[in-house]
Amino acid sequence: AKELGRGRFSFFDFSINEKNQRLIKVKQALRSAIESSEYRLVYQPKVNPHQCVLTGYEALLRWNSQELGMVSPDEFIPIAEESGEIEKITDWVIRRVAMDKQYSAHLRHANIAINISAKQFKSDSWVNTLRIMHDSSELDVASITVEITETALIDSFEVTLEQLLTVRGLGATIAIDDFGTGYSSLSYLKKMPIDYVKIDRSFVQDIGIDPDDQAIVQTVIAMSHALDIKVVAEGAESAEQIDFLKSKQCDEIQGYYYSKPIELADLDSFILQL
Ligand code: C2E
Ligand code: CA
Ligand code: CA
Ligand code: CA
Repeated sequence: AKELGRGRFSFFDFSINEKNQRLIKVKQALRSAIESSEYRLVYQPKVNPHQCVLTGYEALLRWNSQELGMVSPDEFIPIAEESGEIEKITDWVIRRVAMDKQYSAHLRHANIAINISAKQFKSDSWVNTLRIMHDSSELDVASITVEITETALIDSFEVTLEQLLTVRGLGATIAIDDFGTGYSSLSYLKKMPIDYVKIDRSFVQDIGIDPDDQAIVQTVIAMSHALDIKVVAEGAESAEQIDFLKSKQCDEIQGYYYSKPIELADLDSFILQL
């Protein structure tokens, strides 16, 4: 690609053209993904490292597109947010979690975290889905954790507050995802009904490498505890990271060190080594 200066590209820039074509393809393929049964959920364990017990799972979306093969959620979720398709996807995720809980003895009584996109907080559809499933006893919402990013707190404070109070009223647990990567101030944590802060992997992965990141992790844990909020660290891969997090009283840990996300069919025979 020939760059002509900041933000300016030559007319014949194939890389941008290719990116656009991929984007259009993904956007199109997303439209038929639900009816073609191309999605599934995988489940990654969360662990209390002090008591060495499993505390629940995070449900993570996988898309095996007939047309494009496996597409990473890091690629298609932002596109689905842009196109509005994300509402249907989240609806599908909530319903599938309820079905998977029926299927798997392991999941049935476990707490399951689901991801709600920040872009969805302008609509009540995800709240309504949870309410309907709660009222019809299809899903025990008290066993659901809702993971939202800091952006949702900032972009639409009032609406988000009301939605979080509603789902919390149904028994759901609330977690702030990717904590530390956004721009939320401490005051949001105090004003919002938040049970958990989830420290982003980018900080956790540099434990033992970057003293600044260690200081951030330690501070987030101390600050959250002072506000009576629990802490989950995500993306822990090494024993050294686990030891550090434990010594700083991190409440729960999720990461490859314990387990990668697990296919539904493998869950009931899966034994977590703790
Ligand atoms: P996230 O919510 O921060 O999820 C954690 C991501 O980190 C997952 O990637 C997980 O597989 C990965 N991970 C966990 N432990 C480790 C580790 O020790 N090392 C490494 N390298 N990675 C680890 P995944 O499944 O690819 O999802 C990426 C992102 O896509 C998620 O980040 C989330 O933002 C989004 N996403 C996934 N499923 C959904 C969904 O159902 N709905 C929405 N709205 N977003 C989703
Ligand atoms: Ca998450
Ligand atoms: Ca994250
Ligand atoms: Ca993320």
